[in-house]
Amino acid sequence: MGRILVFANQKGGVGKTTSAVNTAASLGILGYRTLLVDMDPQGSATGGVGVAKKSLRYTVRDLLAGGCRAKEAILATSFQNLSLIPANATLAGAEFDLLGVEEGVGAALAEALGSVRSGYDYILINFPPSLGMLTVNALAASDGVIIPLPCEYYALEGLTQLTLTVARVKKRFNPRLVTTGILVTMYNGRLSLSAQIMAELEKHYRDRLFRTTISRNVRLCEAPSFGMPVYYYDKSAKGAKEYTDFARELLTRA
Ligand code: ADP
Ligand code: MG
Repeated sequence: MGRILVFANQKGGVGKTTSAVNTAASLGILGYRTLLVDMDPQGSATGGVGVAKKSLRYTVRDLLAGGCRAKEAILATSFQNLSLIPANATLAGAEFDLLGVEEGVGAALAEALGSVRSGYDYILINFPPSLGMLTVNALAASDGVIIPLPCEYYALEGLTQLTLTVARVKKRFNPRLVTTGILVTMYNGRLSLSAQIMAELEKHYRDRLFRTTISRNVRLCEAPSFGMPVYYYDKSAKGAKEYTDFARELLTRA
């Protein structure tokens, strides 16, 4: 039965999509059957694995609205053991669709994924950029939350809000939800500021922090414009090694 994990943080630009795409690719390379679910109306994870956002037959919006079955929405990618449920701008309308569905409002994604779960080892969700019904659905469907946190001063802002949202969804929709861990992203070993922030994070979140950290690496920014996870774009990139290390560490935790 596939573990469903979401890379969540309501802040933009913290490395959610980069982490979802590259962790999914690494799990696939390590031999795990992996499904990436894009819950971002910008379709950034969709583009990141080389799937054109226009002219998609079905997207996660259709899935949420009951317009197709999960099996029909799944696309193969060119990458090893990696499939995708895509998103594009139409997903923005899902917030509105879901307003009408009183009971199932938060559970639509969880229900939809139920039928395909057994076909995968891991299902990774790319979180939308703001808190709303898409977020609630992503958290309600997940077993674990991975919080990407950039190694920057403002990083901890908003963490309380996220913790609160996770706790609410857990109570209302999904008692099995846990915080799997915090993944430090955009680490810059040459800055003493990075070391200071790491020390601060370790003080507060020692047992939650993943040991692997993701460095700032320009290859991670370049790869999506070629529609590739970093490993396929440049196997020797630091980002490729670190996301593979992270995937290995994740296997020991979730
Ligand atoms: P989010 O999904 O949280 O908004 P993204 O994964 O899209 O964040 O990352 C935001 C921007 O930062 C993107 O341009 C991405 O390419 C870049 N980025 C993400 N992680 C790194 C990293 N480790 N090093 C350098 N740039 C990164
Ligand atoms: Mg994103």
